[in-house]
Amino acid sequence: MKHILMLGTGGTIACRRGENGLTPLLTGDELLAYVPAAKSFCEVDTVQVLNIDSTNMHPKHWLMLSKTIEEHYDDYDGFVVCHGTDTMAYTAAALSYLIQHSAKPVVITGAQKPIDLDVTDARTNLLDSLRFAACDRAHGVNIVFDGKVIAGTRGKKERSKSYNAFSSINFPCIAVIQDEQILFYIDDKWQDRESVRFFHELDSRVALLKLIPSLDSGLLDYMAEHYDAVVIESFGVGGLPTYDDCDFYRAVENWIARGKTVVMTTQVTQEGSNMAVYEVGHRIKNDLGLIEAYDMTLEATVTKLMWILGQTKEPSRVRELFYRTVNRDILWKA
Ligand code: ASP
Repeated sequence: MKHILMLGTGGTIACRRGENGLTPLLTGDELLAYVPAAKSFCEVDTVQVLNIDSTNMHPKHWLMLSKTIEEHYDDYDGFVVCHGTDTMAYTAAALSYLIQHSAKPVVITGAQKPIDLDVTDARTNLLDSLRFAACDRAHGVNIVFDGKVIAGTRGKKERSKSYNAFSSINFPCIAVIQDEQILFYIDDKWQDRESVRFFHELDSRVALLKLIPSLDSGLLDYMAEHYDAVVIESFGVGGLPTYDDCDFYRAVENWIARGKTVVMTTQVTQEGSNMAVYEVGHRIKNDLGLIEAYDMTLEATVTKLMWILGQTKEPSRVRELFYRTVNRDILWKA
């Protein structure tokens, strides 16, 4: 019988209705009571790491989760993290960077409806997650939600209400779970020769600047005073605007001159960026040697930078680590 550790963090799955709306209150043991069928294929212990709405999730909580898994790594065959859906994609990506080369599965799950309702996705998601965490073939960090297994760096919440809230972006689902069967879409046998590695540092001084027509480049100057890296979410395949007295070129140049990191990405969810295509992107990328996120999700881009900058601030090393594939996060190569 497989031995699974379930980590409770809160989220809708664990919510009860209170005077001011839904609040996470149920413990891991209370959640487990709703999926008695799990007893037929695994034994589960629970640990309550947090009980928060995932809106309040912070990098320090990712380190707490990773530390809890590290401390119990040898004692269990797999791990299930119950989590709110709102920032689940960030947590799944962050854990993908904090826990690398894991032969044991680390599953992140949650639900759009609380587990104690008559009609809810929570019981299916929890049972599927335990099933995947107990699967011999499963490994590494993945989201399990609405019957889909999504690589931890590829998940994105695309629907705020429906059960099929998560999509796998620019990468196929690893597997689907239907009628108690796990069907792998990717021939994904564990072949990694390296043993599991836990990282213990994150730099949360990473900011996001989403461009809109008319945005003042002075914002970038302001951000340079407060952050070590900025992700610029540009339009289409990517570029930086020029208008009136706004000078994004100079603002980005200022970041680079200060040894800080600028990563270009796109606001378009599917298919990623390629700044080489248009003059508005090509010139600035070549002149300033900007890093580009290509097919990565925003959630993976942000958390990868936090993980990298937790280890080094040296620009060439930052670039090298950024383009190194971790848990399937980037296929494009610079
Ligand atoms: N606000 C909730 C959370 O992320 C939403 C959910 O879990 O679905 O914690």
